[in-house]
Amino acid sequence: MQCRFCQSSKTKKYGHTPKGMQRHRCNDCGKAFVEVMDPRRMTPAEHAHAQRLFEEGLSGRAVARALSRGVSTIWVFLKKSENAPDNGSLKSLPACG
Ligand SMILES: [Zn+2]
Repeated sequence: MQCRFCQSSKTKKYGHTPKGMQRHRCNDCGKAFVEVMDPRRMTPAEHAHAQRLFEEGLSGRAVARALSRGVSTIWVFLKKSENAPDNGSLKSLPACG
């Protein structure tokens, strides 16, 4: 685990937060920090799920709804995905809905 402040790798586990997240403490700068996952990042399972839904012909908006994700998150996934269908459904984002 790399220190968020000084990028040192000399960190140790340092208990947990009240929410149960792993805390770490840096031996170099002495700061404690919590390992945080980027909430916008999709998990591999979500990637696989989204891919399958696209293959079934769902639109980007429908996939976003199915995964409880923002359309922009799905859009980023689509742009990264080599197998993304080129149906243009995400190119014009609606103002609402
Ligand atoms: Zn540090």
